[in-house]
Amino acid sequence: MDDSGARASLARLREGNRRFAANAPRAAAHLTHARRAALVAGQEPFAIVLGCSDSRVPAELVFDQGLGDLFVIRVAGNIVAPSLVGSIEFAATKFGTRLVVVLGHTQCGAILATLEELRRPAANQSPNLRSIVERVCPSVQPLLATDLRDDPEALVREAVRANVRASVDHLRHGSEILEKLIAEEGLLVVGAEYSLETGEVDFFEGVAAEPRRSRTSP
Ligand SMILES: [Zn+2]
Repeated sequence: MDDSGARASLARLREGNRRFAANAPRAAAHLTHARRAALVAGQEPFAIVLGCSDSRVPAELVFDQGLGDLFVIRVAGNIVAPSLVGSIEFAATKFGTRLVVVLGHTQCGAILATLEELRRPAANQSPNLRSIVERVCPSVQPLLATDLRDDPEALVREAVRANVRASVDHLRHGSEILEKLIAEEGLLVVGAEYSLETGEVDFFEGVAAEPRRSRTSP
């Protein structure tokens, strides 16, 4: 199965994030009236991003992309629920997009809220909010049974990454359509973490790292 298209898209995201993190974005060139007009007839986004709603992590900006480049789904905690899977299935089948990135980030409020809820369950929590916390819980809860519970910073760091991995796993195995695209059409689903501190996106294991980056996740 040929996933070269997905890998080329991944390289574009890495390049874009490198420009963003280096304070040298170029996306303004793709935000012109001409670009908007050219896209009226149709779109062909090269990547699908399932990211968090956090105002500090807008996918188009942190990957330095313009109009028509990314199909973005944002929800607190970058969780996976049926309507979100449906959005990804739609883009992958309708536009032929072959890369899906689940983008979590450091200091994610949804993760912090879930950890807080596990420690001190709140009474009368909104059922809507609860539906998000409940989707984060299964990947975060086991960490509280490890030594990490005594190291708040490390706990949050690991919880963010565990939650991204859970979403990736859910997308890879929770949709017949996506599973088929992965097996037959070279669709790639990868996890990544954006650092609020550095502006850099760290793509997770399973994706060959480029020489420049030596930092990989455990
Ligand atoms: Zn977040």
